Amino acid sequence: MKYVLVAINLPVKNLFRQFIYSLPETLQQVGEGWRVIVPFGPQKVEGFVVRAFSREEAAALLQQENPDFAFEKIREVTAALGTRPWFSEEMLLTAKWLARYYMCSLAEAMRLFIPGKTSIRRRPVYENGKLVAYEIEEKLKARTVLAYSITEAGKAALQEGNNRAKAQMQALEILFHAAAPLTVKEAEELQISSAVLRTLAEKDWVQRGSKRLLRNSYDRQAERKETLQLTPEQEQAVAEIKSSLNGSFATQTDSDSGIRKQEFLLQGITGSGKTEVYLRAAEHALRQGRQVLVLVPEIALTAQIVQRFQAWFHEEVAVAHSKLSQNERGDVWYKLRTGEANVLIGVRSAAFAPFKNLGLVIVDEEQENSYKQEERPAYHAREVVRCRCGYTGAVLVLGSATPSLETYYRAVSGGIGYLQLKSRPGSSFLPAVEVADMREELAQKNYSVISRKLRRELIATVHEGQQAIVLLNRRGYSTFVMCRDCGETLTCPHCAVSLVFHADEQVMRCHYCGNTYPIPQICPNCGSRRIKFFGSGTQKAEQEIGQMPGVQVLRMDQDSTAAKLAHEEIIRRFVQKEANVLLGTQMVAKGHDIPDVTLVGILAADSTLNLPDFRASERGFSLLTQAAGRAGRGDKPGRVVLQTYDPENEIITLAAKQDYETFAKRELARRRELLYPPFGEILKITVVDKEETKAWELGDEIALFLRNRYELEKWETTEIMGPFPSGVAKVRDLYRVNIVVKSQALGKVKDCLSGSRYRAVKNIYFDVDPIMAI
Ligand code: ADP
Ligand code: ZN
Ligand code: ZN
Repeated sequence: MKYVLVAINLPVKNLFRQFIYSLPETLQQVGEGWRVIVPFGPQKVEGFVVRAFSREEAAALLQQENPDFAFEKIREVTAALGTRPWFSEEMLLTAKWLARYYMCSLAEAMRLFIPGKTSIRRRPVYENGKLVAYEIEEKLKARTVLAYSITEAGKAALQEGNNRAKAQMQALEILFHAAAPLTVKEAEELQISSAVLRTLAEKDWVQRGSKRLLRNSYDRQAERKETLQLTPEQEQAVAEIKSSLNGSFATQTDSDSGIRKQEFLLQGITGSGKTEVYLRAAEHALRQGRQVLVLVPEIALTAQIVQRFQAWFHEEVAVAHSKLSQNERGDVWYKLRTGEANVLIGVRSAAFAPFKNLGLVIVDEEQENSYKQEERPAYHAREVVRCRCGYTGAVLVLGSATPSLETYYRAVSGGIGYLQLKSRPGSSFLPAVEVADMREELAQKNYSVISRKLRRELIATVHEGQQAIVLLNRRGYSTFVMCRDCGETLTCPHCAVSLVFHADEQVMRCHYCGNTYPIPQICPNCGSRRIKFFGSGTQKAEQEIGQMPGVQVLRMDQDSTAAKLAHEEIIRRFVQKEANVLLGTQMVAKGHDIPDVTLVGILAADSTLNLPDFRASERGFSLLTQAAGRAGRGDKPGRVVLQTYDPENEIITLAAKQDYETFAKRELARRRELLYPPFGEILKITVVDKEETKAWELGDEIALFLRNRYELEKWETTEIMGPFPSGVAKVRDLYRVNIVVKSQALGKVKDCLSGSRYRAVKNIYFDVDPIMAI
């Protein structure tokens, strides 16, 4: 008799234990990595087998974990889901790492590997109007279609031949040579009518079966593969990745140290042709019979990368974005597992796809925050694939123009391979950047969002038949509303943030909870009518730019792209020149390679830098560089106008020069001093409560607990800060209080918390390596 240890797949955060079950005779094949149905209390639930063992081992474990529980009471696994394990050994190991690193339960980590997080659906069963039970059915259904194949009798009939039944013989001939059963539609395309198929079936010369039908929502006409002559820098990068794939030493220095570089930073300025490097590395991995994963920050913004990959690798390419239906995602996973597709391009959740033989992982724009999941478990996709590469031996390539400081530091300190593309291929150069001082504009009585310089450039650009991109990283029309008499700003009653005026719908909107409110006529505080709208968002800029001569503007922000794949539609219209100015939030700054864009305007460049957070300058620098990099990608030179109230700002001047190296050196020095990553690791603990005092009480308790343990266990350099109010102190009526731990021994801090009662408390959230420490 076999026994199994099962992690229960329930979406609860406080179920950290796993449970022992026995396997009935009929399920002896079940082992590690299988999905099963098990009884759990009065209900039946899905579980994941994390270990299989003998009776003796099971008894020993039970004795150790729960000695009061009689061994005979161990229950049986009800059924197995699927016909083989879902989790490979490597996936299971990754899940275990993830659970420990990000402080969640194993089941929570394993759920991430299942499309839709669970494989079953519970259907209530009623009797006389009373709920009596739940029926369980497998959720991911393969869609199948009827398909015909030739039988032995059919083969015999074909051999015999029959001159009077030409159509039938022809059909048998085709079916005999077909590699796989033919659907009715496929048969029709080969001139076999359904009537003939029916006749053949009646004679038992063909049999009906089913064939799995794969849904592909991303069928696109692929352009022809063009092969460019690589620049020497690209050559070099490709060669190093290839030799790593071959398992040999990447460089002389590596062979000296005796370590094969398995991970690379590919740092290339915007437009330097990183994609070309990805394509060739992928081609090499595919030739080796290995699979390739390409992670992109947001699929809608990266249609171009998908097209380039499809042009090279055709049906080998599968795409997984967040808007796929669960069944579509199931199909994609199936194709990877069977090797029907061998390249997956996807957003962060694709990091959990099941590969047969993973050889290469590429993370494009590796510094992007969208790789980090905000809700629990707050994993970072780059770290997940790094772990998987470690277990599979796959090569990891992190691409960026402005890498995260963590990655950059690992590259310059020799932890990973460092590949650089410092110039753009051919005749295109980085654009020239001009700074417009908005204080000067005010002094000259220009109250517009657009400086006179940018206005001139915009008009000239469209006049010459070229295009421009304008970045303003604030949605809405006016960004806050204030009373001139008492100074009150209008805030959301449920969240501690200002309301934003949206002109499109004529409402005040909260960008945190999404609630809308009427536009105030009088001040809610003092009753004054002198209410003023301040700050400018994309809607206001759209209005101003739209009034310039010759300009047709398209706006792209969260409000204009709510619909499925609306981004793509906006980009398509812009590429087809339905408009000559594309205006929007950070979405316009990224990824697009549009040859006729010769001007980029960056409004309110300071606004991204002014958050009181340790990553604000990094984020700001990256955004400014990326936006500027959209200009001059074709053969016409590009220009950038960067508007700021703070032209002496160090980050702004470095971004204007696109001088990443100086920026990184200074920022790293600051971080070293303050123990921020990569020099210390961070854990953010957030306590959330309806009652403000309760949130503070619990926050104080945790901080005290940690400080005591710190004294007791003498952890290496560790700072415990807080509790203090979260950057947004209230969201949807819930108060938020943070404790932030910076440490060079964060593992110990995490283990300490994981061993405490706080681990399973519902309103405490742990965020390991948070994006923001506020
Ligand atoms: P990045 O991702 O580094 O910003 P892309 O990969 O989008 O840059 O490349 C920018 C442009 O340069 C693309 O239009 C691409 O086709 C072109 N390109 C890339 N490599 C070469 C090359 N070796 N020769 C000519 N053009 C190239
Ligand atoms: Zn007032
Ligand atoms: Zn709100």
